[in-house]
Amino acid sequence: MKSISHWLNGSVTLDTPARTGEIYNPATGEVSGNVAFADLETVNKVVDISEKAFEQWRHASLTKRTQILFAFRELVNKNKEKIAELITAEHGKVLSDALGEVTRGLEVVEFACGIPHLLKGGFSEEVSTGVDVYSIRQPLGPVAIISPFNFPAMVPMWFFPIALACGNTVIVKPSEKDPSAIMLIAELLKEAGLPDGVFNVIHGDKVAVDALLNHPKIKSISFVGSTPIAKYVYENGTKSGKRVQALGGAKNHMIVLPDADLDLAADAAINAGFGSAGERCMAISAIVAVEPIADKLIEKIKERALKIKTGDGTKGADMGPLVTKVHRDKVASYIEAGEKEGAKVVVDGRQVKVEGKGFWLGPTLFDQVKPNMSIYLEEIFGPVLSVIRVKSYDEALKLVNEHQYGNGTAIFTNDGGAARRFQNEVEVGMVGINVPIPVPMAYFSFGGWKNSLFGDSHAHGTDGVHFFTRGKVVTSRWLDPSHGGINLGFPQNN
Ligand code: NAD
Repeated sequence: MKSISHWLNGSVTLDTPARTGEIYNPATGEVSGNVAFADLETVNKVVDISEKAFEQWRHASLTKRTQILFAFRELVNKNKEKIAELITAEHGKVLSDALGEVTRGLEVVEFACGIPHLLKGGFSEEVSTGVDVYSIRQPLGPVAIISPFNFPAMVPMWFFPIALACGNTVIVKPSEKDPSAIMLIAELLKEAGLPDGVFNVIHGDKVAVDALLNHPKIKSISFVGSTPIAKYVYENGTKSGKRVQALGGAKNHMIVLPDADLDLAADAAINAGFGSAGERCMAISAIVAVEPIADKLIEKIKERALKIKTGDGTKGADMGPLVTKVHRDKVASYIEAGEKEGAKVVVDGRQVKVEGKGFWLGPTLFDQVKPNMSIYLEEIFGPVLSVIRVKSYDEALKLVNEHQYGNGTAIFTNDGGAARRFQNEVEVGMVGINVPIPVPMAYFSFGGWKNSLFGDSHAHGTDGVHFFTRGKVVTSRWLDPSHGGINLGFPQNN
């Protein structure tokens, strides 16, 4: 049994915590360890450490910061299998998926290695005679990152490489369900040469989050999680004067037009619907089939869904378990609700049996889903795909635009004009065209619209650099040396 504690000032704390939480291996259903829950005192301590470290780190040269990030990139690359194993052991996703998330995180580190270029300001000479104006961007101070269970390595990596590169100090509060990956990442940052206190990790629950939200010395909050908590974090963080970006839940639609390649669309539906057991904020969960292709499309998805092997993510399965028993039962209760509300179960994940006490639920496919059903209205966050049949593109677009969430969406078609209209008209932050999970690259920014994001800044890309810095504009006039300065031999002004 392992015990996970906070990472403060470059090492693991040895204090005995007053409260702890259990960590499970979702593939065995057994408790594999426990994690310390921070109290107010621990949060005050970590903020003091971060504030002190900021005074040095903000003056570290751009060269030093990038050298550390380059070294960190190499170390993560060397240790990515180890990080992936920690993720699979606590989250349950299959190893290839876990490796994929580390790779996506690394792309943000690579982006942050370009910080000398990204932080360059503007300069205008002679805005008035002898007067120049220039802009600079400066770090905020100690910043906090609060992350969800579904990407224990990648989501913190969306933020901290850029925050550190910009000269901030960082406190991560990861999900209490899978806290190990970030601890190895903290060790690697230290090994890469990051000074102690610049990057800290505190574990815990609402108590730790509230203390971070209320602490006057925390300058910004980057939150990723479910919509009710994202809204809470946004409202309370901004109330106490902080800059907040709070990414919330999703219900991503995939529209399939009648001219689409249905095999491509079915493959995409399987990967995006059941990859990581549907526990992805970019998972497709609603397939909008524009008639007359629904029957054919459903048949193709069904055929593929029945071949998915659900099982232990370390043993070659296609799809792992759900993260906890509570979550598994919640997803199963949505399947029951869908059935009761009149949707047709085409593939029933409840029938999939896997040996052992893991939190298993196989892939489920619904047909005849209507827009007023709970399985359509709410985020399920599990391996459940719902097909909604519509008669036209306009009806499909209306569904997407009227939904409360607007994280990602995709359209499958061979008609460039239809795709172009969709990208223009759809009210969603990230759009895929014949691509199921339109996850932007690190140098673009990541974020949804509507109830999928609270705040103005998306994650990483140039939004990230702006979020983690404050702009300053300097207007300067240096008197000509002839006006009392040292005589450099310039001609006299008359
Ligand atoms: P969650 O909201 O339960 O937890 C997220 C974080 O908030 C965790 O660190 C948790 O400890 C903390 N938290 C939980 N309850 C809290 C409370 N009452 N007060 C204060 N803090 C609290 O989310 P989760 O279940 O860990 O993650 C899944 C959710 O995250 C899904 O809704 C998914 O769509 C969303 N998500 C969104 C994105 C995105 O980019 N929009 C990315 C990944 C995940």
